[in-house]
Amino acid sequence: RPFGYAIVGLGQYGLKTIIPQFANCAHSRLAAVVSGDPAKAARVAAEHGLPASAIYSYETFDTIRNNPDVDIVYVCLPNSMHAEYTIRAARAGKHVMCEKPMAISVAECEAMIAACKTAKRKLMIGYRCHFEATNLEAIRLASSGAIGKLRYVRSEHGFVMRDPSLWRLKRALSGGGSLMDIGIYALQASRYLTGEEPVAVYARESTDRSDPRFTEVEDMIDFTLEFPSGVMAGCYSMYSANQNRVLVMGDKGRVELEPATRYAGNRMWTGRDGREQEVTPPATPHKTQFAGQLDHLVQCVRTGNEPIVSGEEGLRDMRIIEAIYRSAREGRRIQLGAKA
Ligand code: NAD
Repeated sequence: RPFGYAIVGLGQYGLKTIIPQFANCAHSRLAAVVSGDPAKAARVAAEHGLPASAIYSYETFDTIRNNPDVDIVYVCLPNSMHAEYTIRAARAGKHVMCEKPMAISVAECEAMIAACKTAKRKLMIGYRCHFEATNLEAIRLASSGAIGKLRYVRSEHGFVMRDPSLWRLKRALSGGGSLMDIGIYALQASRYLTGEEPVAVYARESTDRSDPRFTEVEDMIDFTLEFPSGVMAGCYSMYSANQNRVLVMGDKGRVELEPATRYAGNRMWTGRDGREQEVTPPATPHKTQFAGQLDHLVQCVRTGNEPIVSGEEGLRDMRIIEAIYRSAREGRRIQLGAKA
């Protein structure tokens, strides 16, 4: 039977993006909702044919352990709540899909991994681009030698944040600004396109602190990642311009994606010397990146395999993010994996 997901947090992503995607899944279905808004939860449950017993509040959430219809809890809450709900879900005996960024600190990520390990439950992070056709084709091309030896990656990710009251701009809830929210796509792309782990980072921040949106978190951050092969990745993230782009440059050509990591409509080009051509990536076995992501965790639970984007993968990013913030704060290059 398809596995049952409980969606925690009926906001933009959980309600508007993920819930409709169960229609595209082969192995996953909606089994419960968890919300602080009883009227909204009742409406969503009714729309999807769920019984009243499939509705939970944040207070009753732990009783989800008694619901055999729920196999996996999907945490779609503000970043600072990811650790708490992942740990509570694991303790309730459920596997966990947790949205990006995995949490707001390395310590939280480690506690989440430990809780899932103790409970013998799977933990996966909602890095949907690992299931997205354009990004998968870019990974294939970059690793195939088609553009020669890789030299650098450039990625810019941003959007114009209009509402100063959003939790994304409150440090206690977000853990940080554009880097936590959208710069993480540039970081992820640099890692999955090179297949390497950075050994050092150097970062600079540019934020207008008199702008009421940016009293607590950064607007723009520019970070360079150094990889062992000599590849460098230059990345920007920002809350003050719309940009969504990835370029991988090799000594024989380039792969370029724009938009690169959107929900739909991503496009890519490859070639060299101004003769780049658009590439239509091969179709994936799954209908959408979201369905691929949701069904992947189900298959991992069934087979015992680790998700390709496990808790450890989220932790790796969080270690780099902490180093990026530290580099920007201290104005110096930070070696990863090294003390002080
Ligand atoms: P949102 O503000 O639209 O939804 C957040 C939900 O959490 C709402 O239902 C809100 O009521 C609830 N909530 C509970 N306690 C809250 C509190 N104290 N303050 C604010 N909200 C509270 O946010 P969203 O865009 O749905 O983001 C949720 C998570 O999903 C974030 O971690 C975000 O990074 C992630 N996300 C991922 C993607 C992706 O493409 N993978 C896209 C968007 C968001």
